[in-house]
Amino acid sequence: MSIKVFVTSNQMATFPCPQCGESQLKDVSKFLGHASQVRLKYKCKCQNSFSVILERRRSIRKEVSLKGYLIEKQQKTPITIVDISKHGVKIKILKKHTLKKGEKIEIELILDDPNRSIVPKAVRINKIIPPMTIGCEFIDFNHYGNLGKYFLYHF
Ligand SMILES: [Zn+2]
Repeated sequence: MSIKVFVTSNQMATFPCPQCGESQLKDVSKFLGHASQVRLKYKCKCQNSFSVILERRRSIRKEVSLKGYLIEKQQKTPITIVDISKHGVKIKILKKHTLKKGEKIEIELILDDPNRSIVPKAVRINKIIPPMTIGCEFIDFNHYGNLGKYFLYHF
């Protein structure tokens, strides 16, 4: 039997030992990486080992229609952001592209907040949906400044 444990936004998880009832808060960033679910064995201080499924809470994905740019070698190509979550964005590129899965790219999001804030972000391509849609994951899931506020108020 495995215990399901949810990972907090700062990559911590609490392991509750079914034998002695002690729980331990641990940094699990090195186990999880970018995976959404990982199974591992955990050994408590009481020597009891148990199997744990670490799971990231699924982040809320919101359909949007935001403008932005793909930035390549100082060239800006217009894109549309069609959905956004704390983990990533799905974008549409408005011209032919040669981008590949796994590639790291820089984008600029133009938020629909009152200041039309421009947010530069590094993302990794995790899905190419022909002809023009691309699924991207944020390299860093911690969002500060205007994007942090955007998630706070819109999610
Ligand atoms: Zn224990």
